[in-house]
Amino acid sequence: MIEQRNPLGYYIGHVNDIQHRIKASSGGIGTMLQKHLLSSGKYGTSITFCFNAEKCMYEAKLIHSAEEVNICGSIYQDIDITQFVSEHTKEIANGIVVSCPPCQVSAIRNMLYRENIPCFIISFCCSGQTTIDGTWRYYKLLGIKKKNIVHMQYRGNGWPSGIQIWMKDGSRKFCMNYTDPWKTLHASKLYRPKRCFFCTFDTSRIADISLADPWLDKYIQYDNKGNTLFLVNTTEGLGAIQQMQASDLLSYEETDYAIYCAAQQNNLSKSDRVRYHKKRLQRTQKLTSNPFIHYLFSRNLFMMRLFQKLQNRL
Ligand SMILES: Cc1cc2nc3c(=O)[nH]c(=O)nc-3n(C[C@H](O)[C@H](O)[C@H](O)COP(=O)(O)OP(=O)(O)OC[C@H]3O[C@@H](n4cnc5c(N)ncnc54)[C@H](O)[C@@H]3O)c2cc1C
Ligand code: SF4
Repeated sequence: MIEQRNPLGYYIGHVNDIQHRIKASSGGIGTMLQKHLLSSGKYGTSITFCFNAEKCMYEAKLIHSAEEVNICGSIYQDIDITQFVSEHTKEIANGIVVSCPPCQVSAIRNMLYRENIPCFIISFCCSGQTTIDGTWRYYKLLGIKKKNIVHMQYRGNGWPSGIQIWMKDGSRKFCMNYTDPWKTLHASKLYRPKRCFFCTFDTSRIADISLADPWLDKYIQYDNKGNTLFLVNTTEGLGAIQQMQASDLLSYEETDYAIYCAAQQNNLSKSDRVRYHKKRLQRTQKLTSNPFIHYLFSRNLFMMRLFQKLQNRL
């Protein structure tokens, strides 16, 4: 069993390649790390995510070179990466670089350790996932038919950017990060996986590196290209970051726990929410899994907001 521990350091920075930085979620550190570890030959396998227009959803894909990394930003679609890794262990050559939410790090690390497969794990701060049904409901709220979508991204292309949908007719729809209808849909918890209701992770401290958005005034007001706030948790993570800096791939500065707390207040208060409001969360989760309640309150934004009010009274 791998124990949670304090990070070796807190940093804020970005990749030096401007195209890459713009395309990624925040400062591009996550995808550059993945590319660097593959191209340096340290690891031979990784996982990237590609949009399947036919299924209208993102899918995980096993890759073996840096060129195959698809820079598409954070994917707010629940994907079982532990399951994906376990189904592909035979295809892993020379270790694997995996990115996954905090709740999956331990299972993936332990599974790969048992199989004697070296791994480098990238995780992130996580405020909760959304089922694919949630994204499909989101399209309906926008009046968009799935069959008319050729591509979409939840993030990327500037900071903090937002949801971008490319249509068959050549048009593109853009909704700024965490604005309606996504904001209400997410806050209603109607499309939240069960485990997220009771999650206490702000981020993972057993991943090699943990990424986050720097939600601080300085960046919110003046940064539109993107920076990543990141925790280096292992000596291997530190070595990778230092090598990348020596190769002039990225620029960063050291920061501290106080800045991390200021940027990630919401995620850091998850454990208190679970501790002090467990009963309410259990009741809400039960309601969201009732097919009739789910059908009724997911009809439109008005009903979703009504459901939020109802939760506060539980
Ligand atoms: C579901 C989710 C919730 C998040 N919640 C928060 C939050 O509450 N607060 C906060 O500050 N930051 C949150 N983040 C992290 C943030 O959105 C950025 O990922 C982070 O700032 C890293 O930016 P980057 O430019 O360095 O990463 P990039 O260079 O864009 O690389 C991101 C890496 O993450 C991988 N990735 C993307 N989506 C997923 C996924 N669903 N599962 C596994 N791997 C994935 C990509 O393949 C890539 O390797 C969340 C990310 C996700 C995916
Ligand atoms: S909120 Fe917690 S349980 Fe949900 S995806 Fe994020 S880390 Fe996992």
